[in-house]
Amino acid sequence: MISGEIKVMREESHMWPASANVFLVRDRDGAILIDVGCGKEEKFNTLKNFLNNEGLSLRDVHTIVISHAHPDHMGAMGFLLQEISPRIYLHDFEIPLAADPQLLNQTFDYNLAKRRGSSESNPSLENINVLDYFAGLCPMSSSHATNAMTDGDTLCMGKFRFHVIHTPGHAPGHVSLFDPDSGVLFTGDVVGKVVAWYSPSSGGAIGYLNGLERLAKLNARIILPSHGENIVMAREAIERTKAHILQLESLILQTLGDRPLSFMDLCGKLYPKPTVQLFPGPQLLESHLIKLEQEGKVIRQEDGLIRKR
Ligand SMILES: [Zn+2]
Ligand SMILES: [Zn+2]
Repeated sequence: MISGEIKVMREESHMWPASANVFLVRDRDGAILIDVGCGKEEKFNTLKNFLNNEGLSLRDVHTIVISHAHPDHMGAMGFLLQEISPRIYLHDFEIPLAADPQLLNQTFDYNLAKRRGSSESNPSLENINVLDYFAGLCPMSSSHATNAMTDGDTLCMGKFRFHVIHTPGHAPGHVSLFDPDSGVLFTGDVVGKVVAWYSPSSGGAIGYLNGLERLAKLNARIILPSHGENIVMAREAIERTKAHILQLESLILQTLGDRPLSFMDLCGKLYPKPTVQLFPGPQLLESHLIKLEQEGKVIRQEDGLIRKR
C-alpha cells in the first residue's frame, strides 16, 4: 500500500547505538525526509546513496521533519546543512534542544542518581556529558528550525496529510505523525520493537502513557517506527508498549512492599546493574514516582524514604 509512496533507509539493527530509520516522501517539488540519522560520515554517505538510488540528490530535499532532537535522529544535520538549506520542522519544545544540544543533559536527567543521594561514587559517570558519551557512537550536531510544529498541526507531504501528535515522555517535544486516509502512523521512538527510556524532564511516564492513549484511538493501519521493521498490528504494538510501562509500575509498588526505602535502595533492587543505576534506572523510577505520588499511591517521607500509602 505505502511501498511506492514512502521509502525507508532502515538500519539493520534496532539496538542502540543504531541510527534511526530515515523516511523519504516525494512530492511535486522533490523530497521530504523524516529524520536524517546519526552524525557519522559513513551514515551520511549511505543517505546520499539511498537518495541516488531513488533518482534523487541531496539538492532535491526541500523539507526535513525531525521527530525529536536526539543524536540518532538528527546527528546528520551538520553534514546536510553544509550542502543544502531545507525547511526544518521541529516541535516547539525541541527547537532549543536542537539549537544547543548541550541542553539534552537536562532532558536526560543524567544527574538524577546523584541528586537522589547515590552512594555509588563514580565521578566519571556522574559527571557524564551526554554529547561526549554519544560522540563516538552516534555523534550529534546542532540545527536551527525554520518551522515550529505543535500538536494539532497538519503537514502536507505529497498525497499525505499528516497530523502532528505531541507524544512526550522520551523527549519533551517528541512528535508522532498520522495520516488518517492511509492509516500510516510514524511513532518515532515511542512505539517500536523496544520500549524507549523516559525521564521526568522529557515528559515522564505520565506524558508517555497519555501519548499512547491518543495513538491507540487513531485506528492506525501501519506503524512506521524509527527503529526496526514496520508494524502492521498497530493497536497491539501500542497496547504492548503501555503494558510494559505499567508492568514496571507494578514492580515498583511490589518492590516497595510494606517498608519504606530510599530512592537509591529502591533503584538498586529494581536494577542490580551499576550502570543502569545511573541511566536509565533512576530516570524511569522517578518518572513513575511522580505519577504514583500524584495518584496518592506512594508518599515521600520527610526523611526522604519512599513508602506506599
Ligand atoms: Zn530518542
Ligand atoms: Zn531513537
